[in-house]
Amino acid sequence: TKSLVWFRRDLRHFDNAALYQALKQSPSCYCVFVFDKTILQALPKRDRRVQFIHQSVQELREELAAIGTHLIVLYGDPTEEIPRLAAELAIDAVFVNRDYEPAAIQRDQVVQQGLASFNCQLIACKDQVIFEIDEVLSLAGKPFSVFTPYKNAWLKKLASETDGEPDFYFKPYPIAKYAAHFAKHVATEMPTLSAMGFESLDEQTFKLHGGMQAGAKLLDDFLTRIDQYGDARDYPAIKGPSYLSVHLRFGTVSIRYLVSQAIRHIRIANTLAGASVWLSELIWRDFYFMILHHNPRVVGSAFKPEYDAIQWESGQSAKDMFQAWCDGKTGYPLVDAAMLQLNQTGYMHNRLRMVVASFLVKDLGIDWRWGEAYFALHLNDFDLSANNGGWQWAASTGCDAQPYFRIFNPITQSEKFDHEGKFIRRYLPQLASLNPKQIHAPWKLSPIELTAANIQLGLNYPHPIVAHDLARQKTLERYSVVKKIA
Ligand code: FAD
Repeated sequence: TKSLVWFRRDLRHFDNAALYQALKQSPSCYCVFVFDKTILQALPKRDRRVQFIHQSVQELREELAAIGTHLIVLYGDPTEEIPRLAAELAIDAVFVNRDYEPAAIQRDQVVQQGLASFNCQLIACKDQVIFEIDEVLSLAGKPFSVFTPYKNAWLKKLASETDGEPDFYFKPYPIAKYAAHFAKHVATEMPTLSAMGFESLDEQTFKLHGGMQAGAKLLDDFLTRIDQYGDARDYPAIKGPSYLSVHLRFGTVSIRYLVSQAIRHIRIANTLAGASVWLSELIWRDFYFMILHHNPRVVGSAFKPEYDAIQWESGQSAKDMFQAWCDGKTGYPLVDAAMLQLNQTGYMHNRLRMVVASFLVKDLGIDWRWGEAYFALHLNDFDLSANNGGWQWAASTGCDAQPYFRIFNPITQSEKFDHEGKFIRRYLPQLASLNPKQIHAPWKLSPIELTAANIQLGLNYPHPIVAHDLARQKTLERYSVVKKIA
């Protein structure tokens, strides 16, 4: 039999479930990646993610060539290209790693139908998550909608599956063992970024490295500081988190390997700090995949339907406030620095994602979906499930979300998590000469202090676009409609 492995958001050969299954089950295995024309055409012509994918595919091609096959790289509509290629190569089964997003599920159904017309199967494997959407259920057999019991059940299931495994659960799929099963295919050209209509970003703008090797390097670096993660992860000025999210997004790292490393460190450290907090974050990732799968209506609607009755700000003034938020011009330094981090690098620290999301929804009264869409366009690690989950958490509309009356104060968040103002100074050099007491709320300074720091509010730094205390009151009123319905 002949098989075809269709790579999508799993751009690695290391520990790749679909690749392993295909090699094991068939003596002649081809590999393909398709740059999806429909997705790419909707993106801005300078896009870090496309460049990241391009670099990763290029590296994967080299890696696969070294172990025995040629990765075919196409540009087009995968619902046409995959059945066409499979028919041309007389493939019996196309292997993929399962994708949980509604649009991807639909795409795969169309491909499956196309393949069925010549008796070719589509075989989907679990690779993106540790536990599949229906593998962790409540005692009543229902999907969870609260994180802590889900996490406990998740850990219990992992413990039961790893019982007696001396190697901390992880054994990578032995790809090399079946290398003789790779089909020889004539090398074809890979489409360049410019042929697909994209500009190549220089290193300064790109600020990323695609591929498995770059992912492994980040992981190695993170493992030297994983024990401090529990404390360090909340402070955007320091190197606390792993920065692996974009690699998880495109599968240049294996989630199974990451979890095994977290477990190894938990066992070594024998404490509840660091590694176990990080493991919890990886479990949040599985949790949101599961939530999206069981509740596809969260795309566009509140998880808690009564919250859809909330009246958000509208009209030109809402549009202007939203634009100020996007541009990092709200007059709240931590919010502005965070938005500039996103605009300039495509990354935003987790603490700051919570702060800016809360600010947009609960200080400016703007619909969380506007912020969700902006993040979707700009985040390197944009993932529908985690992004939607994060936004609905901040807007209090989601499952297991922040209660609506808990409203972040952007000034105290700034004082607490960027105490010295180091992060703010990195992105707002015009505030650099303010001391740690002044930097969080420059409008509170006297004219003499402002002049001394060379700040002219309204000229080189904006006046605050809302007063937090008033906004807070307005938000409580706005959300009271929910109480009346519930
Ligand atoms: P680390 O702290 O090192 O965490 C390790 C990994 O755990 C992350 O890479 C990620 O895969 C996972 N993770 C961590 N926190 C969460 C979480 N709350 N939910 C789900 N998975 C998590 N994460 C995305 O991957 N894509 C998104 O589009 C996204 N949008 C977000 C939007 C908002 C409003 C909020 C509040 C959070 C969002 N997150 C998103 C979650 C989180 O902010 C990022 O995963 C994290 O900042 C990525 O940085 P890191 O890899 O250095 O994280």
